[in-house]
Amino acid sequence: MSSPQAQQQAPHKVIVIGSGFGGLFGTKALRKAPVDVTMVAKTTHHLFQPLLYQVATGILSEGEIAPPTREVLSGQKNAQVLLGEVTGVDLEARTVTSHVLGRETVSEYDSLIVAAGAAQSYFGNDHFSEYAPGMKSIDDALELRGRIFGAFEMAELGANRGDDIDHLLTFVVVGAGPTGVEMAGQIAELAHRTLKRDFRAINTREARVILLDAAPQVLPPFGQKLGEKAKGELEKLGVEVILGAMVTDVDERGIEMKFKDGRVERIKTVTKIWAAGVQASPLGKTLSEQTGAPLDRAGRIGVNPDLTLPGHPEVFVVGDMIALDNLPGVAQVAIQGAKYAAKEIDGRLTGKAPQGPFKYFDKGSMAIISRFRAVAMVGKLRLTGVIAWLMWLAVHLVYITGFKSRVTALLHWAISFLGRGRSERTTTEQQIFARTALARLRRGATDLVSEPGAYDAARQMMETTRREELEAMAAEEARLTDSGARGVPAEQR
Ligand SMILES: Cc1cc2nc3c(=O)[nH]c(=O)nc-3n(C[C@H](O)[C@H](O)[C@H](O)COP(=O)(O)OP(=O)(O)OC[C@H]3O[C@@H](n4cnc5c(N)ncnc54)[C@H](O)[C@@H]3O)c2cc1C
Repeated sequence: MSSPQAQQQAPHKVIVIGSGFGGLFGTKALRKAPVDVTMVAKTTHHLFQPLLYQVATGILSEGEIAPPTREVLSGQKNAQVLLGEVTGVDLEARTVTSHVLGRETVSEYDSLIVAAGAAQSYFGNDHFSEYAPGMKSIDDALELRGRIFGAFEMAELGANRGDDIDHLLTFVVVGAGPTGVEMAGQIAELAHRTLKRDFRAINTREARVILLDAAPQVLPPFGQKLGEKAKGELEKLGVEVILGAMVTDVDERGIEMKFKDGRVERIKTVTKIWAAGVQASPLGKTLSEQTGAPLDRAGRIGVNPDLTLPGHPEVFVVGDMIALDNLPGVAQVAIQGAKYAAKEIDGRLTGKAPQGPFKYFDKGSMAIISRFRAVAMVGKLRLTGVIAWLMWLAVHLVYITGFKSRVTALLHWAISFLGRGRSERTTTEQQIFARTALARLRRGATDLVSEPGAYDAARQMMETTRREELEAMAAEEARLTDSGARGVPAEQR
């Protein structure tokens, strides 16, 4: 039993940065620990990134892969959610500073778990992003949905007018990792199966879907044999696979690539999708500057074997942000790392011995190519075809958060994979253009709202000015009346 003195002590405060795989699983793993947890994240949803491509291609809705974290954690009494983008971590003061729409919050912690993940990397060519959106967020997936379905619409319009429409019916996916393969496979299925009867002026089956990568093979982490298999399956679907080609330019109407022999080629296309490269959260740099921990080229921070930072045993970094033993940027690394950190924090408070270094248990990798076709790697086992696809289905059903989402996702998969339909084809102009429009505002969305206090000040000023105007008008009225200039002149009465 704890002493009355201990009972009076404020509970140990844990801040978790991020609501992705590391953030959410870390927070949940602390549910029985004697702590108060605050999960600070840029969004109030938990995003199941592996299924973003299905939102982009109209199979699933965004809600199915992004449940609200408040709902997920509603039963966990020691946890709360704080919306905000973390802009600073002060390791000396043990504070985390976050912002949302001009509002700043400074939160204190005793232990910190940083799980801010990674963003898309354009390898120093950030201007490519305007024309080739990546796939890291719900906004990205909805924008891509708008662009993909929109391209077919523009092609139909163009065909009716006799215009050249080749660039509208050409889709280029950059990056032949799992996301690129899945995306290219789904666009091909859309063009060849889903949409084939929906248009009158165009034949959607004539659409070109191109998957390109600078690497010499598809799915490099899966090994040569599975890579070859995946390439063959994609080609059967009608995807053109171009390897050994580095993207050198992207603009509104096309994409330029350079081959190893120096040849440069341009593909005319309006729809480009960037699925190559990641860059760890810039919070890694802040932490590195304060601790001397090294950063690798992708901005990942080198952590101690127990996932803590040098000189700061109270700070854990997990998931896509870390560089440790060549661990891959996959969901299981984040989940297992976060659970390890939570157990360590709990153990320290309840007098348990340290766990020893973090050990990652590789449960395998898989990538879906089309309906009923996938490749999977589990230990020494290499699986392809329907078996791998069924395995993919089972794993994703288990890991989608929430019973509701599992049921509706299963229904939508039945509609898309057994049938030919897609339930989530709705697109809006805002989905397509909001990102670029917001980027053109000086301070992004913050420009659209007033700063705290600024609204009241502006209102008060308006009221004062209005009152002064009204008083001046009243005084003028009185002057005119008194001088007889107002109303019927005296001589005419
Ligand atoms: C399209 C796609 C497909 C993928 N497919 C697979 C797959 O099939 N299998 C697999 O294992 N892995 C897959 N991955 C990788 C997997 O999703 C990541 O490895 C995993 O999400 C990493 O978890 P994390 O917690 O480190 O980061 P994330 O899950 O990315 O979470 C980061 C969180 O931090 C928040 N955040 C970021 N910066 C800040 C900040 N400054 N302040 C506050 N909050 C912040 C974000 O909003 C987010 O909530 C895929 C990734 C993508 C993008």
